[in-house]
Amino acid sequence: MSTEPKRIVIVGGGYVGMYTALRIQGRLSPGRAEVVVIDPQPNMTYQPFLPEAAAGSVEPRHVVVPLRRVLKKCRVLTGAVTAVDPVRRQVTVGAGEGEAYELGYDLLVVSAGSIARTLPIPGLAEVGIGFKTIGEAIFLRNHVLSRLDFAASNEDGPARRRALNFVFVGGGYAGIEALAELQDMARYALRYYPAIKPGEMRWVLVEAADRIMPEVSVSLASYTVDRLLETDIDVRLSTRLNSAVGGRIELSDGEKFESDTLVWTAGVKAHPLISSSGLPSDEKGRLPCRANLTVKGVEGVFSAGDCAAVPDLSKRDPTALCGPSAQHAVRQAKVLGDNLIRTVNGEALHDYRHAYAGSVASLGLYRGVAELYGVKVRGPLAWFIHRTYHLSRVPTFNRKVRVLADWTAALFFRREVVSLGQLQAPRKEFDIANASPPAA
Ligand SMILES: Cc1cc2nc3c(=O)[nH]c(=O)nc-3n(C[C@H](O)[C@H](O)[C@H](O)COP(=O)(O)OP(=O)(O)OC[C@H]3O[C@@H](n4cnc5c(N)ncnc54)[C@H](O)[C@@H]3O)c2cc1C
Repeated sequence: MSTEPKRIVIVGGGYVGMYTALRIQGRLSPGRAEVVVIDPQPNMTYQPFLPEAAAGSVEPRHVVVPLRRVLKKCRVLTGAVTAVDPVRRQVTVGAGEGEAYELGYDLLVVSAGSIARTLPIPGLAEVGIGFKTIGEAIFLRNHVLSRLDFAASNEDGPARRRALNFVFVGGGYAGIEALAELQDMARYALRYYPAIKPGEMRWVLVEAADRIMPEVSVSLASYTVDRLLETDIDVRLSTRLNSAVGGRIELSDGEKFESDTLVWTAGVKAHPLISSSGLPSDEKGRLPCRANLTVKGVEGVFSAGDCAAVPDLSKRDPTALCGPSAQHAVRQAKVLGDNLIRTVNGEALHDYRHAYAGSVASLGLYRGVAELYGVKVRGPLAWFIHRTYHLSRVPTFNRKVRVLADWTAALFFRREVVSLGQLQAPRKEFDIANASPPAA
């Protein structure tokens, strides 16, 4: 066995990347292995809290975890991996600023996650926005409040009506939570906008299937639809977005209207790095994995999470794969970390096996749905379970305390409805200063 320390390169510092690095950093001494984590962002994002960050229930900074703070024994590089050469065992890092460079590895973990699964719908690329990153959550919060500011400051007319139409496409739990939390926040904010009547706001959910939230049972999904309808969300099932050119929304049921807000939450697909990287990929662009999380067809490469096709050993169907979820990602990272250590030690690898426990979703303050091990829960109890579960899961004690402090403060003070629209155009004031004549 070689005495040289092995270099373990982890591509992506999200759920899988960060938890894998956490798992191994204390258990492999520098003499045994060097662990390098590469991500374009210096933080891991706890995505289940994005809807609450958008709604202002949690401070956005508290739903991200600084990688350099938690991975003290790893080398953290900020940059995007653009290519992998599994023969020479090298990755190419496009640093964003500066020259791209190559980095060799002995063992590679590819955990680049997923991106929004878009469709070639006219106008979507120009006017739509996804809901996967902290930047998108902050943008949407500011944007929704800015539309209320605009509407409250202008007479009724096409531009005002357009500002008050909010469209979400895709009824998975992430989309439903984002829609419900943002609408809840906007409804609350209306107390400060007497010029806008609640009935003037229009929130539309467009879903191509005949039901929402495939992750839960039909009865819980239809309960959720009823709760959304109760709060005046216009739920359109079996309906597709046909066009969004210039913000003119055209639906397959013939409805046409204008909107300044189009949020696309219609599922995810494996990160395109996989299919462009030189690594094997399946028909959906995922890395084909064995149950022990090694990638088929290449040596020394591991994967897990949203970008990996991992067999689901808990199902009878031998072709079943684990779905993209934090639940699998965190547990896979544990097995992956242990298998990296086993590989370094020359030991046999273990398989990943976990039966999906269910889903919890918040539908705005004090409302939620949960289905855990087949048990269905609704209303405030489900909302409480949602919060308790995610508080227990958000990484680091520091973030748990901060999120809890945010929620506690919200009990005693009114909800924050500040729109920091200037974040979207930070140079505007300086441009005005430059355009004005110089002072005498
Ligand atoms: C709004 C929302 C709510 C959700 N709620 C839940 C929930 O309640 N329960 C649940 O189980 N799941 C939930 N999920 C899904 C869950 O967050 C994902 O399944 C999980 O994040 C997948 O982990 P991952 O490590 O594969 O990817 P990620 O956590 O997305 O990490 C991928 C990382 O790779 C990095 N990366 C990308 N490209 C490159 C590159 N070229 N080079 C280097 N690094 C790169 C990214 O910056 C990112 O940090 C939710 C998702 C969203 C969007």
